Amino acid sequence: MSVAGEPSFRESVDMMFRRATALMDLGPGLQEKIRVCNSTYTVRFGVRLRGKIETFVGYRSVHSEHMEPVKGGIRYSLGVNQDEVEALAALMTYKCALVETPFGGSKGGLCIDPRAWDEHELEQITRRFAYELIKRDLIHPAQNVPAPDMGTGEREMAWIADQYARMNTTDINAKACVTGKPPHAGGIQGRVEATGRGVQYALREFFRNPEDAAIAGLSGDLDGKRVVVQGLGNVGYHAAKFLSEEDGAKVVAIIERDGALVNEAGIDVEDVRQWMNSSGGMLAGYPKAQHVVDGAKVLEMACDILIPAALEGVINLGNAARIQAPLIIEAANGPITYGADEVLRAKGCVIIPDMYANAGGVTVSYFEWVKNLSHIRFGRMQRRAEESRSRLLVEELERLSNDQHLGWELTPDFKKKFLQGSDELALVRSGLDDTMRTAYQAMREIWHGRPEVGDLRVAAYIVSISRIAATYKSKGL
Ligand code: GLU
Repeated sequence: MSVAGEPSFRESVDMMFRRATALMDLGPGLQEKIRVCNSTYTVRFGVRLRGKIETFVGYRSVHSEHMEPVKGGIRYSLGVNQDEVEALAALMTYKCALVETPFGGSKGGLCIDPRAWDEHELEQITRRFAYELIKRDLIHPAQNVPAPDMGTGEREMAWIADQYARMNTTDINAKACVTGKPPHAGGIQGRVEATGRGVQYALREFFRNPEDAAIAGLSGDLDGKRVVVQGLGNVGYHAAKFLSEEDGAKVVAIIERDGALVNEAGIDVEDVRQWMNSSGGMLAGYPKAQHVVDGAKVLEMACDILIPAALEGVINLGNAARIQAPLIIEAANGPITYGADEVLRAKGCVIIPDMYANAGGVTVSYFEWVKNLSHIRFGRMQRRAEESRSRLLVEELERLSNDQHLGWELTPDFKKKFLQGSDELALVRSGLDDTMRTAYQAMREIWHGRPEVGDLRVAAYIVSISRIAATYKSKGL
């Protein structure tokens, strides 16, 4: 998507990596070992569909095995290619290290337009692709654990899990071979919303640090902030929905494939999503906002927060100088090219980088993987512990409320609520929130602690690369 003369996506990631390592003291050998992609497997397979054999090209790239399994989604799109898959695999390595999920980085992709095939055909294609990857241990609970990405979701993950189980009937950990499964097929509550939820938690944490918001020329919290979101897929939809419904942010524009919707009074995200479900994914005709055909122009409109939540390279040398948002949060992977990043930084724009901003997905994937391996309902043990703690507290409160001098009463309603304990979804959300807060503080410490580190992206790379280097140093290559 980047303009002519710009580096490829993978080169762009490498250049960002090198900006960080120039400020580190790693030694050229280790630096190179961390940067390079270990291997990329390409498969071409045929599936008999509609009376003829269709050939598909798929990839699974393993960027770093400093921790195993390696982790990363599988993308279905006609734009999938080796360079893209390798860039995305590298970002997975850095992302996992930043949020401390104990995985290496990987990514997969299949060159396909998923809209061109019906459900039964997609199942045949997915199972065949999975078969090719399982045969080579590129899907395996201890070695390589895929997840959803653009163009895939719970449905595809359930097919992959079933395919693995059929081919590995004695593997008791079979379910942990893939994450992002539907809850009734070994998934976890809150995985679908996780990446968008993570974007919300990241922004909340950013505004909890007023000095950081001030760098972008912003103050206060998310309430009333004007947001432009590009891409209303799983990530953009959940981020925009939660920010507007729970934090009072105002979504003033939504950009999609067929242009943009603009309404200064605010757009009801859920309403637009319902509209798109019934219009074949089109925004045009939506009655409660203005439809602008040139969506690219809307990316440049004045707002407080810009959320690119679709493809890589949408902010590039061709439009970076005209982007007006003072704060950009990269909900997508690689939406800003290396060159655009330089232009935006020079303008004083603050960028919350992808490897942090969209780490919510893999964080909750980690919870799902642990849940599958532990063979225990997530939260069951925590719930027991919490319940006994709560019971002790309620006993203490009861004792106090019986004290005539205090003059207050413990209502049965309060007691009931207090003793209820947390459900899986609440545990997932609080674990995710905690992860996003901790990772932000780790980046922030480097950002403000070292004068030569001018931005959050370099800070994120430094935190992440230091951790990967430490793993290599302690275990050997
Ligand atoms: N595809 C998502 C990402 O880019 C999720 C990966 C995962 O859960 O393993 O982070």
